Amino acid sequence: ESILTGDIQLDEEGQDNILRPRSLNEFQGQSDLKENLDIFIRAAKARQEALDHLFISGPPGLGKTTLAGIVASELGVNFVLTSAPALEKPKDLAGLLTSLSEHSLFFIDEIHRLKPTIEEMLYIAMEDFEMDIIVGQGIGARNVRIPLPRFTLVGATTKPGSVSAPLHTRFGITIRINPYTQQELQAIIRRSAKLLHITISTEASLLLAQCARGTPRVANRLLKRVRDFAQVHQKTEVDYAITTIALQKLQVDHLGLEEQDRFILKTIINSYHGGPVGLQTLAIAVGESAESLEDFYEPYLVQQGLLMRTRQGRTATHLAYQHMGITLPKTHDS
Ligand code: ADP
Repeated sequence: ESILTGDIQLDEEGQDNILRPRSLNEFQGQSDLKENLDIFIRAAKARQEALDHLFISGPPGLGKTTLAGIVASELGVNFVLTSAPALEKPKDLAGLLTSLSEHSLFFIDEIHRLKPTIEEMLYIAMEDFEMDIIVGQGIGARNVRIPLPRFTLVGATTKPGSVSAPLHTRFGITIRINPYTQQELQAIIRRSAKLLHITISTEASLLLAQCARGTPRVANRLLKRVRDFAQVHQKTEVDYAITTIALQKLQVDHLGLEEQDRFILKTIINSYHGGPVGLQTLAIAVGESAESLEDFYEPYLVQQGLLMRTRQGRTATHLAYQHMGITLPKTHDS
């Protein structure tokens, strides 16, 4: 099993490699964040130092991995990539740390999921650029500290609140990627269409942007699926009409909700009188793990004002009833 790749190839779709921006210029949107990063990168280069450790948070598919890869290439340094769940034993981390060269960018995805022993090793590596190794065996075994090259740790997470304070404070730069605006998503769709040799009308790209949940990965996925429909319908251009048909067939509605999102809302409304219903109970009812419900489905539903998370549990809002076309019961007070 490979936890280390020189290039980014984590996406299931090979074509994503074509679509993945390689420079800050190609990275669409997020202008404030890019401007700051550009300054930090240039300053580190001018001083011939490693960039400060960088913490990137934001929902899945918003470009955390992409951005880390871009920072490495703008700095002209090695990019070493892993994820916290792949670091099971201290030797897994030790192996990667010793593979780093001077100023390398070491990317750890899902950094909120580090095991405590690994996390403590990382503290020393981040702060002192050293690592403890055990030499010898039995009674003669002893700890030896070995030096590491000056590297930059990039920690990415969808759950910044779950990262321990001692770890968080060891990052010198913290950035948060927020969902993209429709205009930014439209720019991403246009760029991707060009790279995939797809002709797309302005109306169609706007419609796709509206359904993309603020997420470039979703925008690209929808574009590819709509292209399939255009191709089968022998259209040379992805226009508004074929996009509407494709979204209907894909059961993606105008808010970008898919079947499972709607099933979650419908379950809260129909089976639990609109809530509140506990996370665990809801998860079982919709056949998801509590974690995927919480991390994957809920953030967008909450953001769209369709779902509320309260201490008592999950509640469907007025808007959810409206969106689902279900009449609000008179006693409902959410
Ligand atoms: P994350 O690591 O946050 O889950 P990724 O970096 O894997 O997200 O991004 C998912 C895909 O979305 C990338 O392969 C890339 O093609 C596209 N993408 C992300 N951010 C941007 C952006 N700012 N501009 C253009 N495409 C982007």
